[in-house]
Amino acid sequence: MSKRSTKSSTVLRTLFREYYTRAELLLPPDFQLREFAFQLFGSSTYVRHKSFISESELRSYLVQHTPLHAYFSAARYLDPTRTSMEEKGRIGTDLVFDIDADHIPGCEEEAVTYYLCPECGAAYTEPVDKCQHCGAKPIKQVFIPEKCIQRAAHQALLLVDVIREDLGHKNMTITFSGHRGFHIHVMLPDDVAKMGSEARREILQYLLGEGVLLEDLVVTHVKRRRRIYVRPPPRIVEGGWRRRIAKYLASHLRVRDIALFVEGRPHTIDPSRLVAHAEAINKLIEEAVYAMRIYVDEKVLLDLSRLVRMPGSLNGKAGLLVKPLSPNELQDFVLDESLSPFAGLTLRVRARISIGPLEVLGEVVRLRRGELMKIDGARGVFLALKGLVEVVEVD
Ligand SMILES: [Zn+2]
Repeated sequence: MSKRSTKSSTVLRTLFREYYTRAELLLPPDFQLREFAFQLFGSSTYVRHKSFISESELRSYLVQHTPLHAYFSAARYLDPTRTSMEEKGRIGTDLVFDIDADHIPGCEEEAVTYYLCPECGAAYTEPVDKCQHCGAKPIKQVFIPEKCIQRAAHQALLLVDVIREDLGHKNMTITFSGHRGFHIHVMLPDDVAKMGSEARREILQYLLGEGVLLEDLVVTHVKRRRRIYVRPPPRIVEGGWRRRIAKYLASHLRVRDIALFVEGRPHTIDPSRLVAHAEAINKLIEEAVYAMRIYVDEKVLLDLSRLVRMPGSLNGKAGLLVKPLSPNELQDFVLDESLSPFAGLTLRVRARISIGPLEVLGEVVRLRRGELMKIDGARGVFLALKGLVEVVEVD
């Protein structure tokens, strides 16, 4: 690493340390039974098997060691400090869902990918093994359009509904990941937390709507002896996917009496009304089967010893808060500088590459290699952690 970027890393670390002296951490009530893990500045490996008996002990650690990333385990252990799984003695594992904007269908194609040389700052738009200028190995950086993060927020909202209504769990923490996704940590009682990966896979299949068949859902009818027998559309008073599809219908159907019927208000409806609008209803049902699918990270859900980002910590990929959100805040989520504890600062930075226009926290940024510029703390830290600028000093 060059001298300049070491200086930049020192400034970033100081900013992180100051943040941790006043950070509002949100820990599970049983955090003493969890393994903590950290990735420190300038290190590619994790410090693992830590445990803390009090929040103040944890805070001292965060201030003293100032990690780039901080996690605790989704599992509870008899002794979280032991290094082998057998010796740790797993009591059970919570449910952890990770919705990342770059895993949502349609968003992968819209992402902008750069390969940046960490030594000389050259930027490539195609994958390269070696920098053509200095021979170093370029690092892949993916930039996701912010509308994809909105889509991820919408998916997280759908998931909160499923966790509450279909899985029956109320005790959960929803967080913005501090980068481009959302995490939902469902605290499970010990008996439920013992469920293995196979049961967790069934949840995954349920979220993806595997086995949900369109022909079982659509409105159909038969005529016998001048009477019409209709199979009605799904209604909100039903359970599972039928309930979820009915929710979609209720908010998209333009035919008022049928929308009310789907919502469960009137108990009956004239069958001829359903037959008359069957085509429109069935088109919406088909849409709903796709729109209500939820795409979570499979590895995260199935892994019984997974680590969860600590709510209130900083995500070292972007310098944003791992921020707890209520369902209402999730609904109104906007990716902007308010997610950074450094928003009030001004930084002097030097661009390492020429790049742009690039959307950074809701504003368009252009960089010219070697140019010194002043930038607000939120975007400055974001760009520095992405390797696009070096921080010269805090103004
Ligand atoms: Zn290079």
